[in-house]
Formats: sequence, C-alpha cells, structure tokens
Amino acid sequence: MQINTNYDNLEQSYLFSTIARKVREYSASHPEADIIRLGIGDVTRPLVPAVIDALHAAVEDQAKQETFHGYGDEQGYDFLHEALVGYYKTHGVELATNEIFISDGAKSDLGNILDIFGKDNVVLVPDPVYPVYVDTNVMAGRKIIFADANEANGFLPLPDASVKCDIIYICSPNNPTGAAYDRAGLKAWVDYANAQNAVILYDAAYECFIEDENLPRSIYEIEGAKTCAIEFCSFSKMAGFTGTRCGWTVVPTALADGRLNKMWLRRQTTKFNGVPYIVQKGAAACFTEEGMKQIKDTLGYYKQNAKVLSATLDELGIWYTGGKSSPYLWLKCPNGMDSWTFFDYLLENANVVGTPGAGFGKNGDGFFRLTAFGDQKRTLEAAERLKKLLAK
Ligand code: PLP
Repeated sequence: MQINTNYDNLEQSYLFSTIARKVREYSASHPEADIIRLGIGDVTRPLVPAVIDALHAAVEDQAKQETFHGYGDEQGYDFLHEALVGYYKTHGVELATNEIFISDGAKSDLGNILDIFGKDNVVLVPDPVYPVYVDTNVMAGRKIIFADANEANGFLPLPDASVKCDIIYICSPNNPTGAAYDRAGLKAWVDYANAQNAVILYDAAYECFIEDENLPRSIYEIEGAKTCAIEFCSFSKMAGFTGTRCGWTVVPTALADGRLNKMWLRRQTTKFNGVPYIVQKGAAACFTEEGMKQIKDTLGYYKQNAKVLSATLDELGIWYTGGKSSPYLWLKCPNGMDSWTFFDYLLENANVVGTPGAGFGKNGDGFFRLTAFGDQKRTLEAAERLKKLLAK
C-alpha cells in the first residue's frame, strides 16, 4: 500500500484555530470584555419561510407511498434544473438543463471537478485565495502558480499573456477580498483562457451580492465563456443553505466539444448519489416569486451591514476593497501594521474580531477581512468602536 504523499505537502492552516485561541485567551483574561465577531464567513439568518414550507411539504411527500422519492438522478431533479435555467435567464444567460449539475455545495464540486483533469495541468490561482483551490491541487500533486492580487490592481489581477497555464481559478465577488470583476476584466480572462486552451473554474458563490448592473453575475454573460469556463455556485450565501447543503455546477456542452460535460456526468453518476429530494425541493422554492422576495430581504439585511462597515472605512479614510456587491470588506491595516498585529490591536482595544489577511496567502499580509454576516445591532456597535479607535 502506498499512501498519497502529496498530503505531506499541504500547509497546515492555523488561521481559524489561532483566531479561536487568541479570542479564548483574551476572554479568559478579560471576562468583562464584550467581544464582537466580524470574522465569520457563515450566514447567521434562518432559512426563509418559502424554503421552510417547501422542506416541510417534501418531508410529507416522503411519508406517503404515492409521493415517496428514493434515489433520484445523480445530477439532480429537473424541477431544480428548470428553476436554475430560469434564474440564469434573468441575467441574460441561456443554459440547457443538462448543463446544470446539482451538488451538495460548491466546496465539494470545486474539489471533485479535478477528477476530470490530468495531473500534469499547471494551475493558476490568485494570491490571496480561498484555500480550497490550492489544497485540492496540492493533494493531487499539481503544479500551482500564483497571480498577484494586490493594492495596485485592486485585488483583481488580469492575465499575463506570457504565463502559460491550463486551469485557472477565478472567484468573483471574491473571498476574501470582496473585489468583483467587471465585464472587461472577465473578458480578458476568457480571451486568455480560450487562446491557450485553458479552463476557468469560476466560483460564483457570492454572485447574489452583486448590486452593480455593470458587474456580471455569471461568467457566461461574457462572450466566449462557454468554450472555456465551468461555473460553481451555491445556495449557501444566497439562501442560507450553509447547513442545509445545496449548490450547482455548470459544465457547458460547448466546452471541449462536450467531453467535459459527459465526463462530469460520468464522474457524478459513479461517485455521487445525488442531493436529497427534500433539500432540492427547498432549494427550488428560492426561485418562486415569494421565495425570491424573501431571500432578497435576508440578503438586504447583510448588505445593510456591508454598507455600515463601508461607510465606516470611508469615514476613517482606510483603503479597502469589497463591501459593495460583496459581504466581505478587505481593508489595508492602518499605520503599516501586519495582519496579525492589527488583529491583536483590534481585539485588545475595540474587542472586535476579524480575519487576518495573511491567512489567505502572502499577498494578504497587511490586510484584514471583515464580514457583513453578523447581527445588525452588533455590526453597528462594532462600527462605532472602529471609528473611536481608528480616527486620526
Ligand atoms: N466558494 C467560496 C469562495 C466560499 O467562500 C465558500 C464558502 O465560504 C464556498 C465556495 C463553499 O460553498 P458551499 O457552502 O456551497 O460549499
């Protein structure tokens, strides 16, 4: 037996465990401290009533002989494919139902998709980055190169024609930076990918936060994307499904002459047995008129937090990306502090917890992530504390 020694090459991530330890230690020595957490990437609002009703109804279906559902198609039920085709139409994208694969969330598919690509592909990921893109490729032993995201390019790197690669990761709006590509930026990546026969793995998990009409919500809004891009998306942030689990992946039939679509179907039918009927019914309810309205209200709750935090940073004159069309704000640590020094400074002097940018890659050092997923009152309170502490 040989084990996969590529796992030895994974860098240990101490980011969230170190944050938890520091907060624990601080609380123990300052039991009176009222700590506000603006570091979380998880949602905090409950599922909306339309989804809850659909989940209940689906449970009842499972209780009756006539409506019971056993195994479904591995790639998902047509009622959810059709609802998603309708959703994409609202941003001007035409998809066929067989191009959409329902999953238990974007994270699994982002990892699993690598099954259909050869080991020798060179992978291009931005730095800083959602760590899943890097670690899944390290596990497979692929060569990874980085595209520098930094203050100069607004954390939205553009392709460098002299760099050759085969698999490109793009996340827009981005975690952790909150920055989102406009059409011209994404078009540059699509043209670059098509020119060198590369594939873009496009993570659209935060598309539901886009407010600006000029920002694409799907990569397929860009001409030429169907011949070079696979899109991953999720009900997690859109509808609070982080604990309920449902997402989808689009593999266009125009990509690699339909081969990747067929291979992904084959991969899923072999290794996956589908998302529960009950969960898919809940997910489909997001696209009813009532569901959409309710989801928008919940998203509006988080967007209000993002506005409060953006206004605070604007007032303080702190440079940042995100906050608009994104639940994340990525700020430059004041006074040249590195990410962890700023973390300690904020914890000790404002009792506010965020996420040090250094945890997302070398270019993240000197930056800091705040999130809009918290409670509105607590976010307002955190904003006041930031103003008090950081006003010049
Ligand atoms: N992609 C990005 C960029 C994320 O930040 C997250 C979760 O935080 C995911 C994917 C995972 O989404 P899911 O809950 O659908 O697995």
